[in-house]
Amino acid sequence: MTLSTGPIGFAEALDILARVGVDTRLPIEQVAVGMAAGRVLARPLVAEVALPGFDNSAMDGFAVRAADLDAHQPTTLHLLGEQFAGVDRGLALTPGGAIRITTGAPLPAGADTVVIKENARVAGASVVLSPGTVRGANVRRRGEDLEAGAQALAAGIALNAAQASLAAALGCARLPVHRRPRVAVFSTGDELRPPGATLVPGSLYDSNTPLLHNLLADEGIVIAAGAHLPDAPQALRAALTEAAGACDLILSCGGVSAGEKDYLPALVAELGEVYFWKVRIKPGMPILFGRIGNALILALPGNPVAVLATFRTLVVALLDALQGRASPRPRWFARLHAPLHKDHARFEFQRGLLRCDSDGTLWVDADAATGSHRLAAAANANALICVPEGVQRFERGAVLEVLPLTRGG
Ligand code: AMP
Ligand code: MG
Repeated sequence: MTLSTGPIGFAEALDILARVGVDTRLPIEQVAVGMAAGRVLARPLVAEVALPGFDNSAMDGFAVRAADLDAHQPTTLHLLGEQFAGVDRGLALTPGGAIRITTGAPLPAGADTVVIKENARVAGASVVLSPGTVRGANVRRRGEDLEAGAQALAAGIALNAAQASLAAALGCARLPVHRRPRVAVFSTGDELRPPGATLVPGSLYDSNTPLLHNLLADEGIVIAAGAHLPDAPQALRAALTEAAGACDLILSCGGVSAGEKDYLPALVAELGEVYFWKVRIKPGMPILFGRIGNALILALPGNPVAVLATFRTLVVALLDALQGRASPRPRWFARLHAPLHKDHARFEFQRGLLRCDSDGTLWVDADAATGSHRLAAAANANALICVPEGVQRFERGAVLEVLPLTRGG
């Protein structure tokens, strides 16, 4: 395939990534339910049991019949036995009786209400119950959380801890999920040295490799292969060919623009096919998406902020499609705290600081340091601001989408 000409729009790039990603969706594997958070559920989960599975007590106390309770003064009932959480003893409550019960224990036949321990006093073979407990109090009914036969979880959701735990509550030890992609990460550039090495004049540390490792780790992906490659076609060709045989996705950074040493666009076209090259975004415009053999390749530009912005948007879109994710990621919007001006019409990811004021409005302050090499500025930001294509000036208060950069939330 020949190289495409001219940059495409951001939305079109997302579209192509989703389409190709879905066509290349990864196979299904079984994963232990305790390891399932972050994985994409491959089939809907239908409840085989009800939740709760049986009527039971919500509190420690005494199972009674509401009809036996006096609404205004203490009621004395005979203690008929004990039903603790565990095996159902099959006790039956007869009129005028009470059965000692613990949280989660099956409600004895005939009981419809539980009086909590704090409102009860045992006196010999009887229990004296304070007034005030209404019919049905402290009882959890079979199926009130989820009926047997109902769909518990939809296919295509990226499971969170509560959803995985719900599957466990329904008796699933393992869940069908799409395999995670095996990802190779390559940094390219004759000027790069690994952190810890000694710099020579003209060199700088490779900060993109750890950036990509950490961003992938946020996605639950451990890289399968990787290396730092020189700006040399032979070495690049050999590394790409080998990785294409072993991985689902190659992520590279650098060497994809129009410089004399930017060999990747021609190499991907030679070894496979290019789906797009160049997207109208800033930073990150020279990004390339293609295929070599069975592996997809996203060649990111070298500038660190371009790596960050393209990962958080285009790379995750492909990771989601490959894993069959249908549920959208949460989206966040904030108001500009000050007017914002772009000197170009491209879609731009600016860096900014998000803060929420006391009346619940999320504000964002754009950072004046917009250069795509400004890693320190990006490191001090807590969000990327998505500034749309076309419009170049936005007033204070304008609402823009933001991508939080904080971890764990
Ligand atoms: P390139 O896209 O190869 O032209 O690189 C663009 C800029 O990003 C250059 O200033 C490179 O030195 C820098 N760069 C490329 N790769 C890395 C990397 N792995 N770590 C830090 N900076 C990089
Ligand atoms: Mg380079």
